[in-house]
Amino acid sequence: METLPAGDPDTSIGTVDGRSDVKRAALKKNVEDTNQDGLYQQLGSQSFETVFNVKNTMCNFPVTLVTYEGKIKKKGSEPEKNVPPLTYMVFEPQIEWNKKWLTFNFVEPEKRKGAKVASMPDTYTNTEYYYCLPKSVARSVQYRNMYVDTNKATYKNLTSDDLKEQFTVFKCNWEVADQCDYNEHCRKMHGVIPGDLRMETNISVDPKIPFKLNNAMTIVQLGNGDHWAILNNWFTKAVACEVISKSIKKAATDVIEDRKQETA
Ligand SMILES: [Zn+2]
Repeated sequence: METLPAGDPDTSIGTVDGRSDVKRAALKKNVEDTNQDGLYQQLGSQSFETVFNVKNTMCNFPVTLVTYEGKIKKKGSEPEKNVPPLTYMVFEPQIEWNKKWLTFNFVEPEKRKGAKVASMPDTYTNTEYYYCLPKSVARSVQYRNMYVDTNKATYKNLTSDDLKEQFTVFKCNWEVADQCDYNEHCRKMHGVIPGDLRMETNISVDPKIPFKLNNAMTIVQLGNGDHWAILNNWFTKAVACEVISKSIKKAATDVIEDRKQETA
């Protein structure tokens, strides 16, 4: 999963947890105030959920917002000027990432029953992808340019170099009720319906596969996404060889006693 980790020194990334109703409502208001052009205008009421309900499946798509603020430097007799902030919801580059990296499964995967939803976070190599910034979003200048265009009538000296950029990432958490309603939500809010994503694949178990792990000695030079890829490769192999038990949650995995000596 191509992401920048939260806390990347060059990029300001804020996170919002699943239950932060107040923060979510404030961000929602900021986006409404900006009233950005493009796909946002078709969003209707499919905005981000601000109610957390543990009984139902919550939408697992990641959401990224970006806030720009301008500071035009003093030039000759013209004093320094501050340009007010605007908050945008990121669509196109986020949609590109969603289609590339996310998978779908059923609400009841074993029975293949219930609505098709974006897979649970614990099934990905990076289980906290919704606290990371997609690289396609970080590289995009779409909303940077939109901010400059919006403000150029009032602040004619404003350029895209004068901007402060702050990303906010969180998990959507829309409550999944039925497939039609959820598909409409996903199409407008995330640019793709779950059924059009790749299906999540299950790890097959074969104790005859020799247990040999990929080299991780280069791990310090690699990015966060690569760390997860290596660890997930180890996890997959350990499960396939029955060294550790398969579990939906990696944190709940345990070493199988009679194979512990072989790998020690
Ligand atoms: Zn959603």
